[in-house]
Amino acid sequence: MDKVMEQQFDIKSMYEDELKEMLSEMGEPSYRASQIYQWLQNGVKSFDEMTNISKKLREKLVQNCYISHAAIEKKLISAYDGTVKYLFSFHDGETVESVLMKYHHGYTSCISTQVGCRMGCSFCATGKSGFSRNLTASEMLSQLQTEQEDNGIRISNVVLMGMGEPLDNFDNVIRFLKLVSSEKGMNIGMRHISLSTCGIVPKIYELAEMKLQLTLSVSLHAPNNTIRSRTMPINRKYDIDELLKACRYYCKKTGRRISFEYAMIDGVNDSDACAAELGEKLRGMIAHVNLIPVNSVSGTGYRKSKRERQQSFIHVLSKAGITATVRRTLGSDINASCGQLRRKTATERAAKGESSK
Ligand code: SAH
Ligand code: SF4
Repeated sequence: MDKVMEQQFDIKSMYEDELKEMLSEMGEPSYRASQIYQWLQNGVKSFDEMTNISKKLREKLVQNCYISHAAIEKKLISAYDGTVKYLFSFHDGETVESVLMKYHHGYTSCISTQVGCRMGCSFCATGKSGFSRNLTASEMLSQLQTEQEDNGIRISNVVLMGMGEPLDNFDNVIRFLKLVSSEKGMNIGMRHISLSTCGIVPKIYELAEMKLQLTLSVSLHAPNNTIRSRTMPINRKYDIDELLKACRYYCKKTGRRISFEYAMIDGVNDSDACAAELGEKLRGMIAHVNLIPVNSVSGTGYRKSKRERQQSFIHVLSKAGITATVRRTLGSDINASCGQLRRKTATERAAKGESSK
């Protein structure tokens, strides 16, 4: 368990069993651990809020543990559809973005898994601002808890598609998934969770063995190694054929369909020839392709594909038996793609001579 804050335990990242063990060492009965687990997973910010726990025990906990919290640093609300984009800060001043979206079936939150990202994809604002640190499981939970409290709602779906590469922070992400889906916790079932990865192949195999019922999204963004290695450095380590082999294994092992993300960039990866090559690569897979007109990020020079290109791309893919749809973009007036709000804030602070976090 992480001991980050002045050698204190990150208590909200603990499983109920681990809490039981810690409390039994303090001479407390195991039902206390269940009570404390429930308080933590339901978003209390301080031990004082645990009204059924004695003052003496609360004092002991304060001495040994801290409760992580995602504080709202900035908040933007879309005038079009009410999508809310947050910039959250943690105890050390690090910040991440998260987006809360309302669909007809309920609220979906897109959360971050790392502060920054080390994968360096050329089209991505997060990738451009480098890497600071991994988020703990409790910091992932805290993003959801603050959003629920701020809006007086229950979140029903979670996507791990904010800042960071989830499979590069594997252990904390798995811990988060187990906590968020636990019955005494937020109780969001794995089928309501999607995890997006740029393609860290060994971790896809590891995830497949766990047979979780979550949806795996793979950010493909190119039909061949020449284009993919240019835009996504991870492809130089695990190439597209190795990646697709791992994806096929994942589908077979879990019985779940994979969705492929494909950001369409004008003149880079959006020709009919690219679509035909992609169709060939995915042949025989139960796959769905999500086309995303690329969000332009300053400094990349990339522009989104024209609408006719998108339609033509879908048509060529459908001839190869692959279904593709253009993803509906929510909050287009505030979005400007994940990583941009943080980058903008960092630039403003730097201009004022403050810390870059
Ligand atoms: N690191 C993970 C998850 C976070 S990124 C991954 O790469 O999959 C979430 C999604 O946003 C990914 O599909 C990513 O490729 C995509 N993305 C990043 N920058 C983008 C941009 N400028 N326009 C459109 N999609 C982008
Ligand atoms: Fe990291 Fe994903 Fe951005 Fe690539 S697209 S830099 S993997 S967050």
